[in-house]
Amino acid sequence: MRAVQILSPGQIEVVELPTPVPSAEQVLVAVSACGVCRTDLHLLDGEVAIPHPPIVPGHQVVGTIVASGGSAVAEDEAPSPGARVGIGWLGWTCGECRYCRSGRENLCDRARFTGRDIDGGFAEYTVVDRRFCFPLADSHSDLEAAPLLCAGLIGHRALRLAGDGERLGLYGFGASAHIVAQLALAQGRRVFAFTRPGDTGSQDFARGLGAQWAGSSLERPPEELDCAIIFAAAGELVPAALAAVGKGGVVVCAGIHMSDIPSFPYERLWGERVIRSVANLTRRDAQEFFAAATAIRTRTAVYGLDDTARALEDLRHGAFEGAAVIDLAIR
Ligand SMILES: [Zn+2]
Ligand SMILES: [Zn+2]
Repeated sequence: MRAVQILSPGQIEVVELPTPVPSAEQVLVAVSACGVCRTDLHLLDGEVAIPHPPIVPGHQVVGTIVASGGSAVAEDEAPSPGARVGIGWLGWTCGECRYCRSGRENLCDRARFTGRDIDGGFAEYTVVDRRFCFPLADSHSDLEAAPLLCAGLIGHRALRLAGDGERLGLYGFGASAHIVAQLALAQGRRVFAFTRPGDTGSQDFARGLGAQWAGSSLERPPEELDCAIIFAAAGELVPAALAAVGKGGVVVCAGIHMSDIPSFPYERLWGERVIRSVANLTRRDAQEFFAAATAIRTRTAVYGLDDTARALEDLRHGAFEGAAVIDLAIR
């Protein structure tokens, strides 16, 4: 099969690999689309370590189950051959550690992540533990559904952890923010979008989706915010977002990697303001999110597998609005 591999930091290649063989717990999935995430860029740049390179990245996978590794007697609910499924970042958890046993499998000590520990979806085929793939409804095409698998899922979790404040700031208006904005507006919140200074394209995109205000991350919003989610990997946004939220405000850092946070006066945190990160997802998050996501529309920039490296560079430079998706049908 054709696949993309990260060999070492900065080195990404299209390669030929043997089609993977599912183990007893796994199913083989023919990939039709795989979304590109900023985490893929962090993996390529070495900012998030790959434990055992080379690895096939990609953790927003949409495809069809074509074979089952287990015996033919599958459990009733287990997705079986022919089913369209999505695969996200959480690829396996131990089920035994204190995090798994307390409903926090996103923090599992031994978790394995798709496209970092387990070969992912920038490939014609991938295998996945049958307990960690999600049946997908017909509300989205393969290409439209792909960004829901991480940008949507992590965004949904971040929005929940931000609390129920009405005035929501989104720092970095990319794949995740354009989905979260729609979720938040449907919940009756008001959205304030912050972009890189001068990025009028993303600001227009945000206003087009219903944001009440859009401007530069260096600006103060026109009114005090109740909560904010930071999707951009820039640590200097943390004190900026703290300054923008009112007393009791919550600032959620939604990325897996961020540059160092500059020091700031304690006064910015005083008044019961909260800073927190959001890490990974649980399967329960996925169930909740997909139930709420049928009306979400995703904006995609589509590339072929051979152009994965270009898609990553375009993501780095903010060359498109919404989410990049690799379409395996493009040859
Ligand atoms: Zn991701
Ligand atoms: Zn565990």
